[in-house]
Amino acid sequence: MTDQPASDAPVFEHFVAGEWVPSVSGRLFESRNPADTRDLIGYFQAGDPADTARAVRAAELAAPAWRRTPAPKRGEILYRFAELMAEHKERLARAMTREMGKVLTEARGDVQEGIDIAYLMAGEGRRMFGDTTPSELPDKWAMSVRQPIGVAGIITPWNFPIAIPCWKMMPALVTGNTVVFKPASDTPHCATLLVELMAEAGFPPGTVNLVTGSGAEVGDALVESPDVQVISFTGHTSTGKRIAERAARRLKRVSLELGGKNGIVVLADADLDLATDGILWSAFGTTGQRCTAASRVIVVEAVLGPLLERLERRARALRLGDGLEPTTDVGPLVNAAALTKVEEYVEIGRREGELVCGGRRATDGPLANGHFFEPTIFSGVRPMDRIAQEEIFGPVLSIIPVPDEPAAVTALNQTRYGLSSSVYTRDVNAAFRAIRDFETGIVYVNAGTIGAETHLPFGGTKETGNGHREAGHAALDTYTEWKSIYVDFSGRLQRAQIDNQPG
Ligand code: NDP
Repeated sequence: MTDQPASDAPVFEHFVAGEWVPSVSGRLFESRNPADTRDLIGYFQAGDPADTARAVRAAELAAPAWRRTPAPKRGEILYRFAELMAEHKERLARAMTREMGKVLTEARGDVQEGIDIAYLMAGEGRRMFGDTTPSELPDKWAMSVRQPIGVAGIITPWNFPIAIPCWKMMPALVTGNTVVFKPASDTPHCATLLVELMAEAGFPPGTVNLVTGSGAEVGDALVESPDVQVISFTGHTSTGKRIAERAARRLKRVSLELGGKNGIVVLADADLDLATDGILWSAFGTTGQRCTAASRVIVVEAVLGPLLERLERRARALRLGDGLEPTTDVGPLVNAAALTKVEEYVEIGRREGELVCGGRRATDGPLANGHFFEPTIFSGVRPMDRIAQEEIFGPVLSIIPVPDEPAAVTALNQTRYGLSSSVYTRDVNAAFRAIRDFETGIVYVNAGTIGAETHLPFGGTKETGNGHREAGHAALDTYTEWKSIYVDFSGRLQRAQIDNQPG
């Protein structure tokens, strides 16, 4: 934290009521490249409750005009925003890789997810269906419509710094809410670039506001503000629980997308080469820092040996490096704290299972200035071991052998999380049993645990969330209230449940 930039790196500002503004306190924080921490991306405003209140006020003032703007017109602005993102996709993706480390191909996918949800939600401007339904009384009309809630506080993590804010802001805005966006402190630059394009797309001043700064100062102020009616949060389960407790005191609507401990089940008849591809992509893509990353492989003992041999050989061949280099398979972890956390879990893993490969920080040559850790596999892990239960959020995979399919289903479900799961099998009956029995919000058959598409609901069971879903039309539920409307054109008093009943 500083008051004065110590270098000539650019200084970025909050976005409030259509203007770029400095924070009230004048304090700044840095964002650096996790592949090379000497690379300073810029200085960002360290917002506090005063900045948050200013942004909430701007959102409140903009709300009446925005909610009265016809939804198809709101949708047209989303459509323009999607087009702008598509035009700037490469620039956004490169900025993302530089700021949080994921390899460039994945960063492009992250931006594409933002584009997809913007187009999808632009279309909602002309759908947003309610119900028309017969009344139980004659000469009476009944229907329901969605109404915006008010000001939405959007609190996001760093691991999908474009996609997740878009998943939240697009449905919030198309349904007529205004937003105050507080991005993760590890990715303020991505957030700033996104909001620049939103301003260019034509969202009216005050409909979209950006306040950078810490969760404790800005996030907390949003949760506590009586003028923010809905909070949409993605992050750690522990942070989500604290937010839910505080918001509950105000009966504030809260949508939570939290942690995961996703598992892949490999049955005896699986195509092992296909399973190996899916496991490696799910475990080490985004350096294991996806909420849907696979950190557990539950494998039937009959195929443990051949699967493990394939996984070890392929994991050892993965190349660590700067995600902007085309030769890189796995980028850095996001920051020093994440690296330390992974190291701590690897020490636990050494006691609980058997290290197959990896297990060390990578510091050779150009890796010396970044937060790199080798792709790591433990075998012989038991379902209730800590490395099989706790979210590590790094490139660490546990292999859990089980005797048969029923034991695999039990192990898969033995977790407090419930986001994503997958099964590899050639037996259609086994596949459908998995679809029925896996207690997760997302199930894949013969594919890894990652790869959600934006027109289907996204979210998880148990401690992965609080029952809301993002993406798809399910996302509209977070940001709207239902209004039921009765129009009586009989010209007389008609009493429901009374006048239409015998006696
Ligand atoms: P955190 O919970 O640490 O942070 C998430 C966001 O919340 C950040 O913007 C953070 O700000 C903010 N925040 C922190 N403390 C508070 C507070 N007291 N009040 C309000 N806001 C606060 O998570 P990470 O950013 O580390 O993200 C990783 C986590 O996100 C993993 O657990 C992962 O599983 C989960 N995740 C879940 C997804 C899902 O859909 N289920 C999708 C993607 C990730 P700051 O950065 O300033 O600390």
